Amino acid sequence: TPRVRFAPSPTGFLHVGGARTALFNWLYARHFEGTFILRIEDTDTSRNTPQALSVIFDNLKWLGLDWDEGPMPDGKTLGQFGPYFQSQRKEIYTDYCNRLIAQGFAYIKDEAVYFKMPRKRIIVPDIICGDIYFDCTLEKDFVIRRKDGSFVFHLVNVVDDAEMKISHVIRGEDHLSNTPKHIALFEALGMTPPLYAHIPLILNPGGTKMSKRDKGSSVQEYIDEGFLPKAFRNYLCLLGWSLKENREIFDIEEAIAKFDLPQIHRSNARFNYPKLLWINSEYMHSLPLDELYPHAFFWLEKAGLIDNNTDPSFLKKAIGIVREKVKTGKELVHWIKPLLTDSIEYEDEIFQQYLDDNGKKILAEVIPYLEKISSFESKELEETIKDLALKRGRKTADYIHRLRVALTGRTVGPSLYPMLAVLGKNRVLNRLYKVVF
Ligand code: GLU
Repeated sequence: TPRVRFAPSPTGFLHVGGARTALFNWLYARHFEGTFILRIEDTDTSRNTPQALSVIFDNLKWLGLDWDEGPMPDGKTLGQFGPYFQSQRKEIYTDYCNRLIAQGFAYIKDEAVYFKMPRKRIIVPDIICGDIYFDCTLEKDFVIRRKDGSFVFHLVNVVDDAEMKISHVIRGEDHLSNTPKHIALFEALGMTPPLYAHIPLILNPGGTKMSKRDKGSSVQEYIDEGFLPKAFRNYLCLLGWSLKENREIFDIEEAIAKFDLPQIHRSNARFNYPKLLWINSEYMHSLPLDELYPHAFFWLEKAGLIDNNTDPSFLKKAIGIVREKVKTGKELVHWIKPLLTDSIEYEDEIFQQYLDDNGKKILAEVIPYLEKISSFESKELEETIKDLALKRGRKTADYIHRLRVALTGRTVGPSLYPMLAVLGKNRVLNRLYKVVF
Protein backbone atom coordinates (compact mmCIF):
# COMPACT_ATOMS: atom_id res chain seq x y z
CA THR A 1 0.00 0.00 0.00
CA PRO A 2 1.19 3.52 -0.78
CA ARG A 3 3.08 5.69 1.65
CA VAL A 4 2.74 9.35 0.79
CA ARG A 5 3.72 12.51 2.59
CA PHE A 6 2.96 16.18 2.91
CA ALA A 7 6.19 17.97 3.64
CA PRO A 8 5.57 21.63 4.39
CA SER A 9 8.16 24.12 5.51
CA PRO A 10 6.76 26.10 8.44
CA THR A 11 6.56 29.59 6.96
CA GLY A 12 3.82 31.03 9.16
CA PHE A 13 0.90 30.18 6.96
CA LEU A 14 -0.49 27.37 4.86
CA HIS A 15 -0.66 28.28 1.20
CA VAL A 16 -3.70 27.27 -0.85
CA GLY A 17 -1.36 25.27 -3.09
CA GLY A 18 0.08 23.50 -0.06
CA ALA A 19 -3.39 22.71 1.22
CA ARG A 20 -4.29 21.18 -2.12
CA THR A 21 -1.06 19.14 -2.15
CA ALA A 22 -1.90 17.88 1.33
CA LEU A 23 -5.45 17.08 0.24
CA PHE A 24 -4.37 15.14 -2.87
CA ASN A 25 -1.85 13.13 -0.84
CA TRP A 26 -4.48 12.44 1.78
CA LEU A 27 -7.10 11.42 -0.82
CA TYR A 28 -4.60 9.11 -2.45
CA ALA A 29 -3.70 7.48 0.86
CA ARG A 30 -7.32 7.10 1.88
CA HIS A 31 -8.38 5.72 -1.51
CA PHE A 32 -5.73 3.00 -1.44
CA GLU A 33 -5.80 2.54 2.32
CA GLY A 34 -2.21 3.67 2.49
CA THR A 35 -0.34 5.85 4.93
CA PHE A 36 -0.41 9.65 4.97
CA ILE A 37 2.66 11.14 6.61
CA LEU A 38 3.27 14.66 7.82
CA ARG A 39 6.92 15.66 7.67
CA ILE A 40 8.06 19.09 8.77
CA GLU A 41 10.80 20.49 6.54
CA ASP A 42 12.11 22.93 9.08
CA THR A 43 15.75 23.21 8.15
CA ASP A 44 15.48 26.98 7.80
CA THR A 45 15.92 27.64 11.51
CA SER A 46 15.26 31.38 11.23
CA ARG A 47 11.61 30.75 10.31
CA ASN A 48 11.23 27.84 12.59
CA THR A 49 8.83 29.03 15.28
CA PRO A 50 6.21 27.18 17.33
CA GLN A 51 3.56 29.50 15.88
CA ALA A 52 4.52 28.59 12.32
CA LEU A 53 4.13 24.93 13.23
CA SER A 54 0.76 25.40 14.90
CA VAL A 55 -0.58 27.11 11.76
CA ILE A 56 0.14 23.87 9.88
CA PHE A 57 -1.53 21.74 12.55
CA ASP A 58 -4.53 24.06 12.88
CA ASN A 59 -5.16 24.46 9.18
CA LEU A 60 -4.84 20.74 8.45
CA LYS A 61 -7.21 20.02 11.30
CA TRP A 62 -9.64 22.63 9.95
CA LEU A 63 -9.50 20.92 6.55
CA GLY A 64 -10.17 17.57 8.21
CA LEU A 65 -6.93 16.05 6.92
CA ASP A 66 -5.67 13.64 9.54
CA TRP A 67 -2.29 11.98 9.26
CA ASP A 68 -1.15 8.51 10.23
CA GLU A 69 2.48 9.34 10.92
CA GLY A 70 4.16 12.50 12.02
CA PRO A 71 4.28 14.95 14.90
CA MET A 72 1.05 15.60 16.77
CA PRO A 73 -0.07 18.94 18.24
CA ASP A 74 0.16 17.50 21.75
CA GLY A 75 3.87 16.81 21.31
CA LYS A 76 3.50 13.08 20.76
CA THR A 77 4.66 11.34 17.58
CA LEU A 78 2.82 8.82 15.44
CA GLY A 79 4.78 6.30 13.41
CA GLN A 80 8.05 4.39 13.43
CA PHE A 81 10.03 6.44 10.94
CA GLY A 82 10.61 9.57 12.97
CA PRO A 83 11.70 12.01 14.02
CA TYR A 84 9.45 13.76 11.51
CA PHE A 85 11.12 17.14 11.95
CA GLN A 86 14.07 17.61 9.62
CA SER A 87 15.71 19.77 12.26
CA GLN A 88 16.04 16.62 14.39
CA ARG A 89 17.55 14.39 11.70
CA LYS A 90 21.02 15.85 11.28
CA GLU A 91 22.83 12.62 12.19
CA ILE A 92 20.93 10.70 9.53
CA TYR A 93 21.86 13.29 6.88
CA THR A 94 25.49 13.22 8.04
CA ASP A 95 25.63 9.43 7.60
CA TYR A 96 24.19 9.62 4.09
CA CYS A 97 26.47 12.47 3.15
CA ASN A 98 29.53 10.58 4.36
CA ARG A 99 28.41 7.52 2.48
CA LEU A 100 28.15 9.51 -0.76
CA ILE A 101 31.66 10.91 -0.22
CA ALA A 102 33.12 7.50 0.64
CA GLN A 103 31.62 5.94 -2.49
CA GLY A 104 32.85 8.72 -4.72
CA PHE A 105 29.45 10.25 -5.51
CA ALA A 106 30.25 13.45 -3.66
CA TYR A 107 33.36 15.46 -2.86
CA ILE A 108 34.48 18.29 -0.65
CA LYS A 109 35.59 21.62 -2.08
CA ASP A 110 36.04 24.78 0.07
CA GLU A 111 34.53 22.96 3.11
CA ALA A 112 31.37 22.48 1.20
CA VAL A 113 30.17 19.15 0.02
CA TYR A 114 29.20 18.81 -3.65
CA PHE A 115 27.21 16.03 -5.29
CA LYS A 116 28.64 14.83 -8.61
CA MET A 117 25.76 15.28 -10.96
CA PRO A 118 25.78 12.55 -13.65
CA ARG A 119 26.05 14.26 -17.04
CA LYS A 120 23.31 12.48 -18.98
CA ARG A 121 19.68 12.58 -19.96
CA ILE A 122 17.39 11.86 -17.03
CA ILE A 123 13.81 10.79 -17.48
CA VAL A 124 11.28 11.75 -14.86
CA PRO A 125 8.43 9.30 -15.24
CA ASP A 126 5.51 11.34 -13.98
CA ILE A 127 2.09 9.86 -13.34
CA ILE A 128 0.34 13.10 -14.29
CA CYS A 129 2.57 14.61 -16.93
CA GLY A 130 3.98 11.46 -18.53
CA ASP A 131 7.72 10.93 -19.14
CA ILE A 132 9.67 14.14 -19.01
CA TYR A 133 13.18 14.25 -20.41
CA PHE A 134 15.78 16.44 -18.81
CA ASP A 135 19.03 17.05 -20.59
CA CYS A 136 21.52 17.10 -17.73
CA THR A 137 24.63 16.86 -19.89
CA LEU A 138 25.62 20.39 -18.95
CA GLU A 139 24.27 20.26 -15.41
CA LYS A 140 26.66 21.45 -12.71
CA ASP A 141 27.51 19.59 -9.53
CA PHE A 142 25.46 20.94 -6.65
CA VAL A 143 26.02 21.57 -2.97
CA ILE A 144 24.49 19.09 -0.55
CA ARG A 145 26.14 20.35 2.62
CA ARG A 146 26.99 23.98 3.19
CA LYS A 147 30.11 25.37 4.81
CA ASP A 148 28.22 25.94 8.04
CA GLY A 149 27.40 22.23 8.18
CA SER A 150 23.73 22.62 7.26
CA PHE A 151 22.25 20.33 4.62
CA VAL A 152 20.58 21.42 1.40
CA PHE A 153 16.94 20.71 0.50
CA HIS A 154 17.75 18.19 -2.27
CA LEU A 155 19.69 15.90 0.04
CA VAL A 156 17.37 15.99 3.04
CA ASN A 157 14.26 15.62 0.91
CA VAL A 158 15.66 12.52 -0.82
CA VAL A 159 17.10 10.99 2.35
CA ASP A 160 13.80 11.38 4.15
CA ASP A 161 11.76 9.98 1.29
CA ALA A 162 14.13 7.00 1.29
CA GLU A 163 14.19 6.53 5.06
CA MET A 164 10.45 6.96 5.38
CA LYS A 165 9.85 4.50 2.54
CA ILE A 166 7.77 6.95 0.55
CA SER A 167 6.22 5.21 -2.45
CA HIS A 168 4.70 8.24 -4.24
CA VAL A 169 5.89 11.82 -4.20
CA ILE A 170 2.85 13.97 -4.93
CA ARG A 171 3.88 17.61 -4.96
CA GLY A 172 3.57 20.90 -6.78
CA GLU A 173 4.89 21.26 -10.31
CA ASP A 174 7.26 23.95 -9.05
CA HIS A 175 9.43 21.05 -7.83
CA LEU A 176 9.55 19.27 -11.19
CA SER A 177 12.86 20.87 -12.14
CA ASN A 178 14.40 19.53 -8.92
CA THR A 179 13.37 15.98 -9.63
CA PRO A 180 16.29 14.98 -11.95
CA LYS A 181 18.65 15.89 -9.11
CA HIS A 182 16.56 13.81 -6.73
CA ILE A 183 16.52 10.83 -9.07
CA ALA A 184 20.31 11.09 -9.46
CA LEU A 185 20.69 11.10 -5.68
CA PHE A 186 18.50 8.02 -5.32
CA GLU A 187 20.57 6.24 -7.96
CA ALA A 188 23.82 7.16 -6.21
CA LEU A 189 22.41 5.73 -3.01
CA GLY A 190 21.58 2.53 -4.85
CA MET A 191 17.86 2.99 -4.33
CA THR A 192 14.84 2.99 -6.58
CA PRO A 193 13.24 6.46 -6.60
CA PRO A 194 9.60 6.77 -5.59
CA LEU A 195 6.95 7.34 -8.23
CA TYR A 196 6.36 11.01 -8.99
CA ALA A 197 3.17 12.97 -9.53
CA HIS A 198 3.67 16.69 -10.03
CA ILE A 199 0.45 18.64 -9.69
CA PRO A 200 -0.02 21.62 -12.01
CA LEU A 201 0.12 25.07 -10.47
CA ILE A 202 -2.70 27.16 -9.10
CA LEU A 203 -3.19 30.48 -10.84
CA ASN A 204 -4.71 33.65 -9.45
CA PRO A 205 -8.11 34.64 -10.84
CA GLY A 206 -6.19 36.97 -13.19
CA GLY A 207 -4.13 34.10 -14.61
CA THR A 208 -0.78 34.83 -12.98
CA LYS A 209 0.98 32.24 -10.86
CA MET A 210 -0.37 32.30 -7.32
CA SER A 211 2.51 33.06 -5.01
CA LYS A 212 2.81 33.18 -1.27
CA ARG A 213 2.38 36.92 -0.98
CA ASP A 214 -0.75 37.17 -3.10
CA LYS A 215 -4.06 38.09 -1.56
CA GLY A 216 -6.20 35.00 -1.29
CA SER A 217 -3.25 32.63 -1.17
CA SER A 218 -3.43 31.70 2.50
CA VAL A 219 -5.91 29.21 3.91
CA GLN A 220 -6.31 31.37 7.00
CA GLU A 221 -7.96 34.10 4.91
CA TYR A 222 -10.77 31.70 4.04
CA ILE A 223 -11.16 30.62 7.64
CA ASP A 224 -11.44 34.27 8.66
CA GLU A 225 -13.95 35.00 5.92
CA GLY A 226 -16.20 32.27 7.30
CA PHE A 227 -15.89 29.53 4.71
CA LEU A 228 -17.06 26.11 5.79
CA PRO A 229 -14.19 23.62 5.86
CA LYS A 230 -16.15 20.98 3.97
CA ALA A 231 -17.04 23.47 1.26
CA PHE A 232 -13.51 24.80 0.99
CA ARG A 233 -12.13 21.26 0.80
CA ASN A 234 -14.72 20.40 -1.85
CA TYR A 235 -13.53 23.39 -3.86
CA LEU A 236 -9.85 22.45 -3.40
CA CYS A 237 -10.62 19.05 -4.93
CA LEU A 238 -11.69 20.87 -8.09
CA LEU A 239 -8.35 22.65 -8.43
CA GLY A 240 -6.93 20.07 -10.78
CA TRP A 241 -9.30 17.16 -10.34
CA SER A 242 -12.95 16.43 -11.07
CA LEU A 243 -15.52 13.70 -10.99
CA LYS A 244 -16.01 12.13 -14.39
CA GLU A 245 -19.54 13.47 -14.70
CA ASN A 246 -18.30 16.98 -13.83
CA ARG A 247 -20.64 17.37 -10.87
CA GLU A 248 -19.03 19.98 -8.69
CA ILE A 249 -20.56 19.34 -5.31
CA PHE A 250 -19.75 16.03 -3.70
CA ASP A 251 -18.89 14.80 -0.29
CA ILE A 252 -15.46 13.67 0.69
CA GLU A 253 -16.36 9.98 0.79
CA GLU A 254 -17.19 10.17 -2.89
CA ALA A 255 -13.92 11.95 -3.62
CA ILE A 256 -12.00 9.28 -1.69
CA ALA A 257 -13.80 6.52 -3.56
CA LYS A 258 -13.02 8.01 -6.98
CA PHE A 259 -9.68 9.76 -6.53
CA ASP A 260 -6.65 8.65 -8.47
CA LEU A 261 -3.56 10.37 -9.80
CA PRO A 262 -3.77 9.75 -13.55
CA GLN A 263 -6.99 11.82 -13.74
CA ILE A 264 -5.35 14.93 -12.39
CA HIS A 265 -5.48 17.60 -15.05
CA ARG A 266 -2.30 18.53 -16.80
CA SER A 267 -3.19 22.16 -17.22
CA ASN A 268 -2.87 24.76 -14.49
CA ALA A 269 -5.91 25.36 -12.32
CA ARG A 270 -7.26 28.87 -12.04
CA PHE A 271 -8.62 29.90 -8.67
CA ASN A 272 -12.26 30.76 -9.20
CA TYR A 273 -13.53 32.77 -6.25
CA PRO A 274 -17.15 33.03 -7.42
CA LYS A 275 -17.27 29.26 -7.75
CA LEU A 276 -15.87 28.83 -4.26
CA LEU A 277 -18.52 31.25 -2.97
CA TRP A 278 -21.24 29.35 -4.77
CA ILE A 279 -20.08 26.01 -3.35
CA ASN A 280 -19.89 27.51 0.11
CA SER A 281 -23.39 28.91 -0.13
CA GLU A 282 -24.68 25.50 -1.21
CA TYR A 283 -23.17 23.94 1.91
CA MET A 284 -24.42 26.83 4.00
CA HIS A 285 -27.98 26.16 2.84
CA SER A 286 -27.95 22.38 2.89
CA LEU A 287 -25.82 21.27 5.84
CA PRO A 288 -27.92 19.83 8.67
CA LEU A 289 -28.59 22.66 11.10
CA ASP A 290 -26.90 20.76 13.90
CA GLU A 291 -23.77 20.55 11.82
CA LEU A 292 -23.84 24.21 10.83
CA TYR A 293 -24.47 25.29 14.39
CA PRO A 294 -20.96 24.92 15.85
CA HIS A 295 -19.48 26.83 12.90
CA ALA A 296 -22.01 29.61 13.28
CA PHE A 297 -21.38 29.66 17.02
CA PHE A 298 -17.67 30.10 16.38
CA TRP A 299 -18.22 33.01 13.93
CA LEU A 300 -20.72 34.75 16.16
CA GLU A 301 -18.61 34.31 19.26
CA LYS A 302 -15.59 35.70 17.47
CA ALA A 303 -17.67 38.69 16.42
CA GLY A 304 -18.62 39.23 20.05
CA LEU A 305 -22.34 38.75 19.42
CA ILE A 306 -22.91 35.77 21.68
CA ASP A 307 -21.45 34.02 24.66
CA ASN A 308 -22.13 30.85 26.58
CA ASN A 309 -25.27 32.38 28.09
CA THR A 310 -26.95 32.78 24.72
CA ASP A 311 -30.02 30.55 24.54
CA PRO A 312 -29.03 27.77 22.10
CA SER A 313 -32.56 27.06 20.92
CA PHE A 314 -33.16 30.73 20.07
CA LEU A 315 -29.78 30.89 18.38
CA LYS A 316 -30.48 27.78 16.36
CA LYS A 317 -33.78 29.19 15.11
CA ALA A 318 -32.10 32.48 14.22
CA ILE A 319 -29.41 30.67 12.24
CA GLY A 320 -32.14 28.63 10.58
CA ILE A 321 -33.87 31.66 9.07
CA VAL A 322 -30.70 33.52 8.10
CA ARG A 323 -28.63 30.73 6.54
CA GLU A 324 -30.56 30.64 3.28
CA LYS A 325 -29.76 34.30 2.65
CA VAL A 326 -26.00 34.15 3.06
CA LYS A 327 -22.93 32.75 1.34
CA THR A 328 -20.29 32.98 4.08
CA GLY A 329 -19.91 33.11 7.82
CA LYS A 330 -19.12 36.80 7.63
CA GLU A 331 -22.43 37.43 5.91
CA LEU A 332 -24.21 35.25 8.43
CA VAL A 333 -22.81 37.38 11.25
CA HIS A 334 -23.98 40.54 9.52
CA TRP A 335 -27.50 39.22 8.87
CA ILE A 336 -28.03 37.75 12.28
CA LYS A 337 -26.67 40.67 14.29
CA PRO A 338 -29.94 42.60 14.75
CA LEU A 339 -31.66 39.45 15.94
CA LEU A 340 -29.21 39.06 18.79
CA THR A 341 -29.27 42.52 20.29
CA ASP A 342 -32.02 44.68 21.75
CA SER A 343 -30.16 47.92 21.14
CA ILE A 344 -31.04 48.47 17.51
CA GLU A 345 -29.17 51.19 15.67
CA TYR A 346 -31.15 53.27 13.19
CA GLU A 347 -29.56 55.33 10.47
CA ASP A 348 -31.09 58.81 10.29
CA GLU A 349 -32.14 58.51 6.70
CA ILE A 350 -33.84 55.14 7.18
CA PHE A 351 -35.50 56.32 10.36
CA GLN A 352 -36.93 59.40 8.60
CA GLN A 353 -38.22 57.33 5.75
CA TYR A 354 -39.90 54.52 7.68
CA LEU A 355 -40.34 55.61 11.27
CA ASP A 356 -41.45 59.26 11.04
CA ASP A 357 -44.70 60.28 12.77
CA ASN A 358 -46.80 58.65 10.10
CA GLY A 359 -44.69 55.48 10.32
CA LYS A 360 -45.08 55.36 14.07
CA LYS A 361 -48.83 55.80 13.71
CA ILE A 362 -48.97 52.84 11.35
CA LEU A 363 -46.88 50.70 13.68
CA ALA A 364 -49.08 51.70 16.61
CA GLU A 365 -51.95 50.02 14.79
CA VAL A 366 -50.06 46.72 14.81
CA ILE A 367 -49.24 46.61 18.50
CA PRO A 368 -52.68 45.63 19.91
CA TYR A 369 -53.00 42.95 17.28
CA LEU A 370 -49.64 41.43 18.15
CA GLU A 371 -50.41 41.67 21.86
CA LYS A 372 -53.50 39.56 21.26
CA ILE A 373 -51.85 36.71 19.33
CA SER A 374 -51.57 33.63 21.50
CA SER A 375 -49.34 31.47 19.33
CA PHE A 376 -46.69 33.69 17.82
CA GLU A 377 -46.10 31.56 14.72
CA SER A 378 -45.29 32.60 11.19
CA LYS A 379 -48.65 31.61 9.71
CA GLU A 380 -50.77 33.30 12.35
CA LEU A 381 -48.65 36.42 12.19
CA GLU A 382 -49.16 36.62 8.46
CA GLU A 383 -52.91 36.24 8.78
CA THR A 384 -53.04 38.86 11.51
CA ILE A 385 -51.22 41.46 9.44
CA LYS A 386 -53.39 40.70 6.39
CA ASP A 387 -56.48 41.04 8.51
CA LEU A 388 -55.30 44.34 9.91
CA ALA A 389 -54.46 45.70 6.48
CA LEU A 390 -57.90 44.82 5.23
CA LYS A 391 -59.60 46.55 8.15
CA ARG A 392 -57.52 49.71 7.82
CA GLY A 393 -57.59 49.79 4.05
CA ARG A 394 -53.79 49.60 3.80
CA LYS A 395 -51.34 47.36 1.98
CA THR A 396 -49.55 44.69 4.01
CA ALA A 397 -46.32 46.21 2.71
CA ASP A 398 -47.10 49.36 4.73
CA TYR A 399 -46.70 47.26 7.84
CA ILE A 400 -44.06 44.80 6.67
CA HIS A 401 -41.33 47.29 5.75
CA ARG A 402 -41.88 49.39 8.85
CA LEU A 403 -41.88 46.36 11.10
CA ARG A 404 -38.63 45.16 9.62
CA VAL A 405 -36.96 48.53 10.06
CA ALA A 406 -38.34 49.01 13.57
CA LEU A 407 -37.21 45.55 14.67
CA THR A 408 -33.82 45.37 12.98
CA GLY A 409 -32.83 48.84 11.78
CA ARG A 410 -32.44 47.33 8.32
CA THR A 411 -34.45 47.47 5.12
CA VAL A 412 -33.40 43.97 4.05
CA GLY A 413 -33.24 40.81 6.08
CA PRO A 414 -34.77 37.40 6.58
CA SER A 415 -38.42 36.89 5.66
CA LEU A 416 -40.50 38.91 8.08
CA TYR A 417 -42.98 36.44 9.54
CA PRO A 418 -40.50 33.69 10.37
CA MET A 419 -38.29 36.40 11.83
CA LEU A 420 -41.11 37.67 14.08
CA ALA A 421 -41.73 34.10 15.19
CA VAL A 422 -38.06 33.54 16.00
CA LEU A 423 -37.74 36.81 17.89
CA GLY A 424 -40.84 35.91 19.88
CA LYS A 425 -43.59 38.03 21.30
CA ASN A 426 -41.66 39.75 24.08
CA ARG A 427 -38.72 40.86 22.00
CA VAL A 428 -40.94 42.04 19.17
CA LEU A 429 -43.27 44.06 21.38
CA ASN A 430 -40.49 45.55 23.47
CA ARG A 431 -38.69 46.74 20.38
CA LEU A 432 -41.90 48.20 18.98
CA TYR A 433 -42.77 49.98 22.25
CA LYS A 434 -39.34 51.61 22.16
CA VAL A 435 -39.93 52.97 18.68
CA VAL A 436 -43.54 53.98 18.99
CA PHE A 437 -43.85 55.35 22.53
N1 GLU B 1 9.27 21.48 1.79
C1 GLU B 1 9.00 21.40 0.39
C2 GLU B 1 7.96 22.44 0.02
O1 GLU B 1 7.31 22.94 0.91
C3 GLU B 1 8.48 20.01 0.07
C4 GLU B 1 8.79 19.55 -1.30
C5 GLU B 1 8.31 18.14 -1.56
O2 GLU B 1 7.12 17.88 -1.35
O3 GLU B 1 9.12 17.32 -1.96
O4 GLU B 1 7.83 22.82 -1.11
